[in-house]
Amino acid sequence: MEKLQQLYEGKAKKVYATSDENLLIVDYKDDATAFNGLKKGTIAGKGVINNKMSNFLMQLLEKKGVPTHFCEEISDRETVVKKVSIVPLEVIIRNVSAGSFSKKYGVEEGIVFDEPTIEFSYKNDELGDPLLNAYHAIALKLATRDEIELIKKMAFTVDQVLTEYFLGLGIRLVDFKLEFGRLADGTIVLADEISPDTCRLWDVKTNEKLDKDRFRRDMGGVEDAYNEVMKRLMGNK
Ligand code: ADP
Ligand code: UDP
Repeated sequence: MEKLQQLYEGKAKKVYATSDENLLIVDYKDDATAFNGLKKGTIAGKGVINNKMSNFLMQLLEKKGVPTHFCEEISDRETVVKKVSIVPLEVIIRNVSAGSFSKKYGVEEGIVFDEPTIEFSYKNDELGDPLLNAYHAIALKLATRDEIELIKKMAFTVDQVLTEYFLGLGIRLVDFKLEFGRLADGTIVLADEISPDTCRLWDVKTNEKLDKDRFRRDMGGVEDAYNEVMKRLMGNK
């Protein structure tokens, strides 16, 4: 599969057309941003780790019955994916309090919830990705009621599968963001990426942060954290 014209350059990935109108190539960069692009930097090797990790987890999810956009990894940083029309919702699942949840509700980080929470934000950089509920999403015609129900179900399945898998690696899946898209025939599949950029991952024993919070909060050891997750997940593959 050959890269044709670049269709889009985002904050973390470039997206290319291919000779097949239903397929795209995504190319993962080392660029890192936080706070809606206000903070910018580089995490050396991140593109390779996020590409491989996302592909590994999407294949695991496929095996567990969650349809995804994944087709084929073609290099360290590049993957062929099914082209979707992205549902402009960031779907966030939380198992443990952290980040904006802790800030908004005035609670410490690290409270383990009795059951996971789900929230949506409108994927719109100009508006700063505002939080909205299912009624708002339907009013704005971002998705239908049926699509939202399906997305919720899929997101909780992703949480179950990944929580269990990460626990086996000594990692607590604190929270994460998913994106879904529609194939040409309307089928909803999991798209975008699952990586330390989009998940909070804490070491079970030490609570050490193994994710992008190390970059957001200038904690240092960012590359080491990404490498550690990669090593636990895939050995030296
Ligand atoms: P951002 O747009 O937030 O800066 P990225 O740098 O990750 O994010 O850019 C990748 C873009 O590609 C995102 O807008 C994402 O929604 C979109 N995308 C992810 N998977 C697919 C797919 N399978 N088909 C079409 N677009 C996709
Ligand atoms: N997240 C993301 N992209 C975003 C916003 C959030 O991948 O644009 C992820 C983030 O990495 C975390 C989860 O979603 O794993 C919840 O993020 P939160 O709402 O706490 O926001 P933050 O603290 O990152 O501003």
